[in-house]
Amino acid sequence: MISLVAHSFWAPGCQGGRRSMATIISGIKTSKLVRERLKMEVDKMESHFSGFRPSLVVLQVGDRDDSNLYISSKLKAAAEIGIDAKHVRLPRTATQDELLQSIMSVNENPSVHGLIVQLPLDSVSPINTELITNAVSPEKDVDGLSCINAGKLSRGDLNSCFIPCTPSGCMELIRQTGVSVEGKHAVVIGRSKIVGAPMHDLLLWHHATVTSCHSKTADLPEQVGRADILVVGAGRAEMVRGEWVKQGAVVIDCGINYIPDATKKSSKRVIGDVHYTSANQRAGFITPVPGGVGPMTVAMLMENTVQSARRFLLKMNLS
Ligand code: NDP
Repeated sequence: MISLVAHSFWAPGCQGGRRSMATIISGIKTSKLVRERLKMEVDKMESHFSGFRPSLVVLQVGDRDDSNLYISSKLKAAAEIGIDAKHVRLPRTATQDELLQSIMSVNENPSVHGLIVQLPLDSVSPINTELITNAVSPEKDVDGLSCINAGKLSRGDLNSCFIPCTPSGCMELIRQTGVSVEGKHAVVIGRSKIVGAPMHDLLLWHHATVTSCHSKTADLPEQVGRADILVVGAGRAEMVRGEWVKQGAVVIDCGINYIPDATKKSSKRVIGDVHYTSANQRAGFITPVPGGVGPMTVAMLMENTVQSARRFLLKMNLS
């Protein structure tokens, strides 16, 4: 195990009081390990259970460019692992009832183990997103967004729920550091259903003492300064300054913010919610943006889909 302290403060043998840099936690490498492990498991399932494969349906309404990009990376990851993934696209004119019908038909199909509805919905009709996420059967809700799965997570029932993919990826990255979560003080910035709230619950049930911060938190720098483990999901470019960060902390940055950059072909580049260069000089471990949390989200969706297939086999008394 790597100790938190071993990576803190000053680099051994450093000259002139220069601070050491944090160890970078690579989401690219970690997600590759997860995907390789899943591929081996899916290959085994296929050979042991006469061609059985986990199966995932991605339901999309409309044609948003960003959604198309996210969906294509999910389909590519699934294909590499051996998961059967199907993309179902409804037109922008689809009504709430039509979308609900599509969800019901996947819910009732026993050969599908995972169902995600790509958000945000790109619809011309009014659709209640909360109603939609709760219409997905909790047993197939591999995004972990239904109230049932969120409720189980908040009660610490981690083995029977699906954990939302981004927080689950953050936990995997924290695990990679070798730093034990138990007994640490963790601070989460953000309380959304998809990132902040489930991240709080996960850290809590891994026995950290957790502080949740949000837009009304009065003393954010002070709270951040108390964090042995800091997870940021605020959607505010470089909001967390390096000088706020506790020496040796584990810093996980979920932020995806686009800023103009004339040197790039696309005229923009992505940065996180943490000011990376200054935080890098105080943290013990830090995730880069891009290449940190981002690649983990898709990997953990695959993990949840394989987990759902595992549960299906258990239920059928096959495993
Ligand atoms: P939301 O906008 O839903 O939530 C943002 C949260 O941050 C809210 O709880 C908000 O507080 C809080 N917040 C906003 N401003 C501040 C502030 N100044 N100080 C403290 N807290 C603040 O965003 P998401 O949770 O969906 O996403 C967060 C970030 O993570 C975004 O950059 C998003 O792009 C990224 N993301 C990355 C993913 C990945 O795969 N890497 C996946 C999902 C998201 P309040 O509740 O009070 O409004």
